[in-house]
Amino acid sequence: MLFRGRGMERTIRTLHRCDDCGSHLVQPSGWHEAESLGPGTERRWWMARLCPECGWVDEDLFDQSTLEPYEDELDAGTDVLVAALRELEHESMAAEIETFVFALGEDVVTADDFAR
Ligand SMILES: [Zn+2]
Repeated sequence: MLFRGRGMERTIRTLHRCDDCGSHLVQPSGWHEAESLGPGTERRWWMARLCPECGWVDEDLFDQSTLEPYEDELDAGTDVLVAALRELEHESMAAEIETFVFALGEDVVTADDFAR
């Protein structure tokens, strides 16, 4: 059965916002292409969304053009997470190097530790 889901009337800026708690971290938890409305019509997708902060879930049908800005929003969130991960990796490596340099200075680690 074809129907026009309420997601089609929403503005895209709300798709990443939780209807319950207002979190901006709502993520897709499942999706598939929905049945076409016919030749020349826009692709549609069924999508389930989940708020990781309060557990709110939603599912609806969305036009392709509605989802594209949401995908951009998700990509921007991924970029923020990757940047944070790289910063953590850098901090972790810096701490390991500092520990290693200290151990070398205290003769806790020597060349023999690396011999086969
Ligand atoms: Zn929420």
